[in-house]
Order: sequence, then C-alpha cells, then structure tokens
Amino acid sequence: MDENINEVISDLKSYLEYLKGMGIHSLPISGTVRGQPNPSRVMTLEEVRKELGDCKRCKLHRTRRTIVFGEGNERATLMFIGEGPGYDEDVQGRPFVGKAGQLLTKIIESIKLSREEVYIANIVKCRPPQNRNPEPEEIERCNPFLMKQILVIQPKIICALGTFAAQTLLKTGSKISDLRGKMFDLEGIKVIPTYHPAFLLRNPERKREVWEDMKKIAELIKTQ
Ligand code: URA
Repeated sequence: MDENINEVISDLKSYLEYLKGMGIHSLPISGTVRGQPNPSRVMTLEEVRKELGDCKRCKLHRTRRTIVFGEGNERATLMFIGEGPGYDEDVQGRPFVGKAGQLLTKIIESIKLSREEVYIANIVKCRPPQNRNPEPEEIERCNPFLMKQILVIQPKIICALGTFAAQTLLKTGSKISDLRGKMFDLEGIKVIPTYHPAFLLRNPERKREVWEDMKKIAELIKTQ
C-alpha cells in the first residue's frame, strides 16, 4: 500500500515538474463539463483566454491588430497547430483563414472532418511583422498558453503543421522533412508532424506526403 502511494506521489511530482517546465505554475480547479465538475480538466478555454488578456508579454503586441487565440471544438480528438497568424488571421482574429487556411480546411475535410470538429491554434498568437519567423523569446512567452489549451482540450492527436510547430512541441532542432512520416509522444498525446499548408502552396508536389499523414491520422482516430 505504502509503495503504491509513493508511486502515485512520485508520478504526480514528475507531472507537476513537467507543467512547471512549460511555464504553468498554478492549476485552478474550476473546469466543468455541462455543468458537472470535471477534475481531469483543470481550466476552460474561456478561462485561458481571460488569463491571456490583452497580452503584452512579447514585442509582437506592438504590431498586431488582433490576438488569434485559436478556435474549434473544446473536446476535439484532433488538434492542428500552425506557426502564427498571417495578414488575414490578424485582421479577422481567427486562425488559418487566408490562402493557407483554405488549404488546411480542405486537408481537414479530406478525412471527413470539419473545422468545427477539430481545434486549430498556433505556436504564437500574434502576427510576426511581415510574416517573419517567430523568435525564440516570442515562442517562449506564448507557449504556456498553448500548453494550457492542450491541457484543457486533451486531444488524442496533434498534427504539427510545419517546422515551428513540430520543433516547438517536440523540443527538437530537427528538420520538418526528417520529422514528418514519424509519430511522437507528448505526455500521452500522439504528435504527427507534417508540412505546413503554406509550404504546400509553394510545393504542390509534396501534397501526397501530407495525404499519407492524414490517412494515418484518420486511422488513429478510428482507434480512439
Ligand atoms: N499560417 C499559420 O501558421 N497559422 C495561421 O493561422 C495562418 C497561417
């Protein structure tokens, strides 16, 4: 019995260390499912959004129009994570609504899902000026909020779109071309990296590989 308790305490400690490493220092226990308390969900997306507020944690706030928090199903099995808002997203305050977004919508629909059934977010929530790459400090400041979104949604599968999403989630410097085609584990969540839709617009011959990744995701969803 003592041994069991020690094991639980040790598991809990390492989970809390993991959360701390992601910048999460407190866990408000207020999540509800249809009015019923749900102890496994520590917050709601609305609470995460409230905590983010009118964020000025990095310099992207100076040039952004809108914070693009993310959208979709709070109970999604599948989550897509991109790099950061572009012009259209910054104007509309919604992720993936420009040309790359239209392609992402088609990719989602190719496995008989809708945007409303999945959840779509980005590594950074504010548009980098001139669509430059997000900088390490910007990613670091934004990451705790993305991690909280993941903790709330508890997806079974994350499809990481492009280099920044894959490298940030998997804490690796490996190239997307080396990461795609493989499956990774993030605290029990299956992470499938694939090419970013904007890359596919420039390199349509790579769509076949993304289709392979999507078929793998569709198969995984069936087993959930
Ligand atoms: N590219 C991204 O990575 N995210 C968006 O929301 C739009 C374009």
